[in-house]
Amino acid sequence: MNQTLKKEIDTLVRLQQIELEMNRLRQEVEKVENQKKELAVRLTAFETALDADKLALEQLQQHCIDLEGEIQVVNDRIIKSNETLRMVKTNKEYQVLLREVDDNKKRKNSLEDHVLTLYEQREDAEVRVKESQAQFLQLKAQVQAEQAKIDEQTVGDKERLSELEQQQQSIGKSLDPALLNRFRRIAKMNQGQAVARVSNETCTGCFMNVPPQLCIEVQRGNQMISCPQCSRILYYMEE
Ligand SMILES: [Zn+2]
Repeated sequence: MNQTLKKEIDTLVRLQQIELEMNRLRQEVEKVENQKKELAVRLTAFETALDADKLALEQLQQHCIDLEGEIQVVNDRIIKSNETLRMVKTNKEYQVLLREVDDNKKRKNSLEDHVLTLYEQREDAEVRVKESQAQFLQLKAQVQAEQAKIDEQTVGDKERLSELEQQQQSIGKSLDPALLNRFRRIAKMNQGQAVARVSNETCTGCFMNVPPQLCIEVQRGNQMISCPQCSRILYYMEE
């Protein structure tokens, strides 16, 4: 058995284990990071709805203030007209002013009806905003707690990932660049798996039969043998 070859294949197997583990960890981290993002999106959606409710309330409040001002103006006009009424000399003037007072009273009544409806709407809106605000704060606390939990979960995975990355790099440097290229090329075609064990005359990478003669050569370990089906570098290990 060629000891250099054996060592190279051992190293490739180790590199493959590291990289498969890295992929698994990356997927795991990505999954939880996505959960974190989804939580943030939920919170933002709630906040947007709350902001819309707040804006509607502000508009109602302003509308009430405007109407109150208008009622005040009409009321002042009625008072002034009543005062003038006492001083008019002709019947005609009197009739005109009386009609003016009457018109303004009608206007005032209709404005007051309107503002009462708005007060009710404003009250409803105030309740809604208050409730939404409380719910928002509750959701925010909940989301932050869940995000913190997620961060805690991924800390371990991220540490392990950076350890593996270092091992991957140092193994990469120790390998012959041509061999590493070959490993990379085959791995790319096979979901990251470039080396496969032969077991029961079968390639454990693609589960196809390996011809007996080839199996013997793999077992002898004097040259690097690839699986005829999937091109993975084959190795032998005692069962
Ligand atoms: Zn194969």
